[in-house]
Amino acid sequence: MKKLLFFSAVCLSANFRAQTFTQTYQNRVNEVSLTNIVSNLTDFSDLGVKTTGSVNNNNAFDWLKAKYLAFGYNTVQLSENAFSYNGKTTKNLILTKTGTVYPNTYVIVCGHYDTIVGPGVNDNGSGTSIILEIARILKDVPTEYSIKFINFSGEEQGLRGSQNYVNTVVNGTNPKMDIKLVLNIDQVGGVAGEVNNTVTCERDTSSPSSNNGASSTATQMLMNCVALYSPLQANLNYAYGSDYMPFQANGEVITGLYEYNESPYPHSVNDTFANMDPTFVYNVGKAALGAVQHFALASISALAINDCPPEKMLESLKIYPNPANGFVQIEMLNSDLKDFSFAVTDLAGRTLIQTKNEKRIDVSKLSSGIYLGTMTVENHKVTKKMIIKK
Ligand SMILES: [Zn+2]
Repeated sequence: MKKLLFFSAVCLSANFRAQTFTQTYQNRVNEVSLTNIVSNLTDFSDLGVKTTGSVNNNNAFDWLKAKYLAFGYNTVQLSENAFSYNGKTTKNLILTKTGTVYPNTYVIVCGHYDTIVGPGVNDNGSGTSIILEIARILKDVPTEYSIKFINFSGEEQGLRGSQNYVNTVVNGTNPKMDIKLVLNIDQVGGVAGEVNNTVTCERDTSSPSSNNGASSTATQMLMNCVALYSPLQANLNYAYGSDYMPFQANGEVITGLYEYNESPYPHSVNDTFANMDPTFVYNVGKAALGAVQHFALASISALAINDCPPEKMLESLKIYPNPANGFVQIEMLNSDLKDFSFAVTDLAGRTLIQTKNEKRIDVSKLSSGIYLGTMTVENHKVTKKMIIKK
């Protein structure tokens, strides 16, 4: 696996927030639960050997899906990407969380759930458990970029799930999917009985080299997040042999997390719960959640959506486009908000349009000029100027 290292001066063109410690991010990182990690690892172990296309492999897919639904995600946010291997069908599971500012640009957080020979509690129950925990905690947290949490199958047979996803989904549209970054989490279980206090952060050093500089920058940010949000130390290495590789070959920017104390048990019957270190997985989970919040530009507002008071919600009101012509769209911090009304008045105070619980408003009948849009939630109101230009 010896590879040449390439250095490049290419800078990331994508939008990253300056990297300083953010208390709100830390508060969410503090929600990572060792109990949940242990429970995820135990469930994963109980599902047995999850060879691509096997009954256990399909059962693991169903288990993951049920977990996301139990966190409160809905079926529209879940999709599957099937492919066949060795005459059997297997599926990647994708959970999409839409971004508030860049809905069509994705941060992909991925790891495989298929295993080979053994139950794969480290390889890759560890990454799977972390992805679940991050998805649970970020459920109601607005992020500027969209996030796709992807559980790949077919990794152990040669990255087949991720390659299929790149071929059929990423490159399946014109233009292809816009990916800000791929963060792969594979084999972060550590070794039982050892001091597992370091995690390896992996950057792209493979061909093509056009994306290597951006990968180095992202990987440095990942290392900073390890230092800021977890008790672990970060070690820098290069990416190879896991689900980020088909993405990197496609020109995407990748980074990855991998254990530093390398377990001798993957791909054997001994890749068990007893032979790995759940506390290390828990700590890697903290680092990963810090990093996902950083990369996806998670809200730095301390308010969770569910307990967002109406006046705060109204502060976040956006009416666009402005100027408008045919329709305007209403957007607020709480995208699930159900009970609200919206009125358009002219400057003389006459109500011209009155709607209830509609986020897309027909303004095509208004003539060019200045109007006022008033949003009402309970007994709170906020008014914004709207321009109609024909
Ligand atoms: Zn693996």
